[in-house]
Amino acid sequence: MSTRNSLAALLFSSCLIGAQGAQAGELSLHFIDVGQASSTLVIGPDGTTVLIDGGDPGDGDNYVVPYLSGLGLTGLDYSIMSHWHTDHYGGLDEVFNSGFLPTVAAYDRGTNDNPSGPQAVQYFAAVGGQRTFPTVGQILQLGDGATLEFVAVNGVTPLGSDDPSDYSQSENGRSVAVVVRYNDFDFYIGGDITSGGSGTADVESMAAQYIGQVEVVQSSHHGSKTSSGPVVISNLAPSLVIHSCGQDNSFFHPAADIVEDWSTPASTLAQWGTTRGDTDNGSGGWTSAEGAIIVRTGGYRFTAETANDAATAGGDELMEFATFENPEASPVVGGLAITEVMANPAASSDTYGEYIELTNLMPGIVDLSGLRLTVGLYDFTLGSHVLLAYNERLVLGVDGHAARNGDLWIPLSGPFDDLHLVNSGATLEVRAPGGAVLDTVTWGTGGFSVKSGKAAERVDPFSPGTAANFQTATTAFGDGDLGSPGFPAPGETGVWPSGLSIPGLHIGDTLDMRMSSPSHPGSLYLLGMSLGFAPGVNAIGLHVPLNIDPLFQAFQQVPGSFSSLDASGRGRVLVPVGKDPSLVGLVVFGAYVTFTADAGGITGTSVSNLGIISIL
Ligand SMILES: [Zn+2]
Repeated sequence: MSTRNSLAALLFSSCLIGAQGAQAGELSLHFIDVGQASSTLVIGPDGTTVLIDGGDPGDGDNYVVPYLSGLGLTGLDYSIMSHWHTDHYGGLDEVFNSGFLPTVAAYDRGTNDNPSGPQAVQYFAAVGGQRTFPTVGQILQLGDGATLEFVAVNGVTPLGSDDPSDYSQSENGRSVAVVVRYNDFDFYIGGDITSGGSGTADVESMAAQYIGQVEVVQSSHHGSKTSSGPVVISNLAPSLVIHSCGQDNSFFHPAADIVEDWSTPASTLAQWGTTRGDTDNGSGGWTSAEGAIIVRTGGYRFTAETANDAATAGGDELMEFATFENPEASPVVGGLAITEVMANPAASSDTYGEYIELTNLMPGIVDLSGLRLTVGLYDFTLGSHVLLAYNERLVLGVDGHAARNGDLWIPLSGPFDDLHLVNSGATLEVRAPGGAVLDTVTWGTGGFSVKSGKAAERVDPFSPGTAANFQTATTAFGDGDLGSPGFPAPGETGVWPSGLSIPGLHIGDTLDMRMSSPSHPGSLYLLGMSLGFAPGVNAIGLHVPLNIDPLFQAFQQVPGSFSSLDASGRGRVLVPVGKDPSLVGLVVFGAYVTFTADAGGITGTSVSNLGIISIL
């Protein structure tokens, strides 16, 4: 079979899989909200399930089992108990007794210094003959090449050992830690493993040096100062940090120092927690998901989303990231605009409620890693590989706790105390990684005026950010301040060309085609892919730069290739691409046409840019 026919066949067969809603090829991580405890589910690309810890006694019945059942699971393949503290193993007997006894193996760290009280007796009774002990370096297969490797058990790592018995919090130091890898995506989780803080053993630094850079970390020991030391942070250097902690917990988790260590001015990272954590410790700079957090990946990009609608203003509760190995292009001058500034909130204090909104003006997907923001003395650089698609907005603020910031969803916070939008006036500059100034806005003297509780909204995102191009917001959000964070301002003008955005594509990955025609909300569209673009075809009175060839004809069978854009003028079609090495190096083309058809005929037509897709 020729390559072109092979691609058409692969697309055709895989779109049938997609139509049935299966998630083949996807690795997902589920950080279940069990309060001040931990329970994390890993689902491999072939559906292999691994539950890491089960929360406190009661959490199994109340949270973990309902969560597993809610996903449609009827059993587990593996469980891993990180260590003998009840906030990690206390709920596991309930999980096992509710039909989720692992069919392959239930790992725990072993019997030295294990507890013998009623909770441990319940665990032993429930786990029965499935109980097994892991060894360092042991690997579990999760399908499609995805693996889980044990990188610390009882103080032993692949790079050496430190006996936790000689230190404080020895049980935490003995925690089982693992790294999950899938293509270029890596995830680390280590129970309550310690890295030397507060007189503990330093096991985690050795594990982190062995693992190297990862995309996602669950901070060890709920964000305690005993863990996540400097060597751990510099070696793991992730894009996203998850804190599993309880609201108003008595341990002050996550520790303000640890939140600040993960997110420095030189490398500001996205940090999300399953709850608001300790709301009295005065540390902003991270985001509460108000419930479970789900990470999904095909191994090349990943998304993080909240399981529950956090019921706050500010747009989609979802972020998308590139992996470190596959960054997308950085924004170029004229391609990214500061579209909203809240310098003086009234529903919450300036300390927590200030935000800015950035909008991608260019067809394509940009990677915000390396983006530098300066406001007077305040200066920080994004370390996370946050992706922003054409016509998408990112709200970036001081604090992601809705209760403190005027009830606003802020998926990415600046490092605490390093984003301060001075009320009296300042200049905010956004620079690309190479130093080029992408956009500048000024308020106070020489700029737009600051109104208490009212954001300034850019009228035309494509025109310079002068005072005359900003209006005072009139729409209430959240707790009553005025603004439109995450959404276009009412009355926003600007000419948005139709654009097709496609991130880099690897074989076995999902072809992710995103249409954006802000000027044509609700319009019908016809999306196509072809192997060639010249001379193209004429359709609906427009020249479409795609050829009618086997790929084009196969693509017309893909669900969503002919449909209508949403009220924002957006559409998205996802097609898993088969894992055929003969596809590597192939270049294909994509474009779409929008039109409105009614009794008067076809009107309002437009054609998008040409999307060029190289399969890597
Ligand atoms: Zn714990």
